[in-house]
Amino acid sequence: MLQRHAVVKVSEKTQFTCIRCGRCCISGPNVSLTAHDICRISKYLGVSWRELRGRYILAVVGDAYATPVLRSVGEGVCVFLKYDGGKPQCLIYEARPLRCILYPFIPTSPGRHSEMHVDTYCQGIGLGGEAEPGWSIFRQYSEELKYMYERIHSLVFNDGLEPLEALEKVIDEVCSQDEGR
Ligand code: SF4
Ligand code: SF4
Repeated sequence: MLQRHAVVKVSEKTQFTCIRCGRCCISGPNVSLTAHDICRISKYLGVSWRELRGRYILAVVGDAYATPVLRSVGEGVCVFLKYDGGKPQCLIYEARPLRCILYPFIPTSPGRHSEMHVDTYCQGIGLGGEAEPGWSIFRQYSEELKYMYERIHSLVFNDGLEPLEALEKVIDEVCSQDEGR
């Protein structure tokens, strides 16, 4: 029997298939985001990322850093979850955050690339065929997170910005880089 957060290492597999129950989207806590996640979501929705602030995206400020997260409504229900004929549906599925793509696998640490937790709270664990974590998505997530926090660190400690200002500046930069491609 797996623990709630059993560990899966590279080359190991877990029996899992997503049954689209939506449980992972109603159980909070809020999904943490990279600046790149935010830019992908805003691009997908065809709005400026600043239009997502407050209504869809919040920042949790602690010490010198601000962490962007998806907003929940009610008791831990993701703001992008809707029900269509009783079936859960992600309104930004094609642009959903990397943490959502990875689930039910959860990084044990962003820098530890050889293992992930598997969340047995997921209804699809133990069903279907064998699956392994999305290791390449995990690496992408780690790189985006590292970039965001290194840039925030520099803006806070070298340029004297407040944590929230620094986070917003980094998101502006990443979104404008993406537009330039
Ligand atoms: S809890 Fe598991 S099975 Fe249900 S939607 Fe989420 S990933 Fe899929
Ligand atoms: S963004 Fe989509 S997949 Fe992620 S928690 Fe919200 S509804 Fe679920």
